[in-house]
Amino acid sequence: MLRNRSVPESTRGRALVGAAAAAVLALTACSPSDGEHTSGGEETPAEKPSGEPDRLTEVDPETVADLEEKRTEEEQGDVSVEISYPAVGGAGPFSEELGRITGRAAEEFADAVPGAESVAVTGTLTAAGGDVLGVRLEQKEKESGEERTGYATYWYDAATGATAYSTQLLAGDEELGELHERVSEILGEQDVDTADLYPIAGMYDSIGFNPDGDLVVEFDEGQVAPAGDGRVHAVVPREEAEPLLSDLGERAQAAATAVTRGFELEAEAAAPKDGAAGEVPGRPAPASSDVDCSDPKAKCIALTFDDGPGGRTPELLDELDEYGAKATFFLTGEPIREHPETVRREYAEGHEVANHTENHPDLTTIGEGEVREELASVSGLIDRETGYRPELMRPPYGATDDTVAGVSEDLGMAEIIWSVDTNDWKDRNSSVVADRAVEGAKPGAIILMHDIHDTTIDAVPDILKRLDEKGFTMVTVSQLLGETEPGEKYFDGEEAVTGKDD
Ligand code: ZN
Repeated sequence: MLRNRSVPESTRGRALVGAAAAAVLALTACSPSDGEHTSGGEETPAEKPSGEPDRLTEVDPETVADLEEKRTEEEQGDVSVEISYPAVGGAGPFSEELGRITGRAAEEFADAVPGAESVAVTGTLTAAGGDVLGVRLEQKEKESGEERTGYATYWYDAATGATAYSTQLLAGDEELGELHERVSEILGEQDVDTADLYPIAGMYDSIGFNPDGDLVVEFDEGQVAPAGDGRVHAVVPREEAEPLLSDLGERAQAAATAVTRGFELEAEAAAPKDGAAGEVPGRPAPASSDVDCSDPKAKCIALTFDDGPGGRTPELLDELDEYGAKATFFLTGEPIREHPETVRREYAEGHEVANHTENHPDLTTIGEGEVREELASVSGLIDRETGYRPELMRPPYGATDDTVAGVSEDLGMAEIIWSVDTNDWKDRNSSVVADRAVEGAKPGAIILMHDIHDTTIDAVPDILKRLDEKGFTMVTVSQLLGETEPGEKYFDGEEAVTGKDD
């Protein structure tokens, strides 16, 4: 639940130099194993950190040479916000990222949850060894008298200065998928219903190790099981987990399972530049695709569905899946709160989730502050569900002006209008809707529909079949347009599909 799209990426592979590399190698050589220490004999077995078998390890603050606590308390509107987390000397970029991450999480809670009262984020060190740090954040949210706790763990690679998402402990999307299958089995044995659990970074956002080196995955209260059931977690034995780990994951495991007395980082790393988001397992870059839409033969078009999710959106997702078609969903506030699992599924299945305002007003008739609230709330909601902050918005009725463009730019979103209107809200007739979609289709088209109408859901199988027969490739808006410019307005992708050079 605590996420931030601006977390810089950690680099893959070993990028270690000098003393840092030596420290890691030394640590790897004496990393603890389950029982006896069999290598050489001259080494002493590593001292295990404290922690329960079903919990992430805890670093004793006494073992860290230069450790302080960052602490802020403030009011965001009516919401009181308390944030504290550990800052290790020499890990400036990590502290900065944690400040941004916790601040963003608190802001999203205040923006997106109507009954928000207070939020307290408390960070603790789960690993400090070699050149790796791990901080686990516990976020206690109070809304309308109810309390709920969520967890997120971030990792720091001092060799590169990069802060990593929990899924970056895994070697890639495939390994995240394997972990997800194993976790689903383990939770199933605990009688937890995992139907709404997806292998996305936003759900697998707290991963660490217990003192034995087993992988511990934990989920927010209310995210998988009902909130009253408390913290849901799965412990994956180390021998099953180890083949799934990235290089960072291996080093994190070593750091989490051995106490380093008098721990300190060798040298301050410079903060890295933001990398491509595609490198985070479970968090694909929105424009990334197997299809090259600039190739005219691909005949790319974007189907878009507004005002949902609706009760029958899962049926629509099944249909899209059958054709390998991707779509874009412009979501509004209450439907997201009503069907959060559908939003997660949309995202998990490679569709694009985008912002269509909280209350669906004509944005040109309200003030700038209200426009901001309308958009911030939905971006916060989507991020809290998926771990992804939308990069596209669609103004209701296509009504926009300079104020709307300015706020959209501030919030990092391009404005997406459409080139084909099926008028499916007006003409509740499936064959009419299907005909309009298919007749309007041409490469680069952005087709407007609404997945809250039965007649539209019923029209989709026919639309997909006919577009598929005509050789169209159905992609998301970001896949169609490529990188978009926040605050810019797009009606179609005709330029994108014909190549930008001509
Ligand atoms: Zn709408």
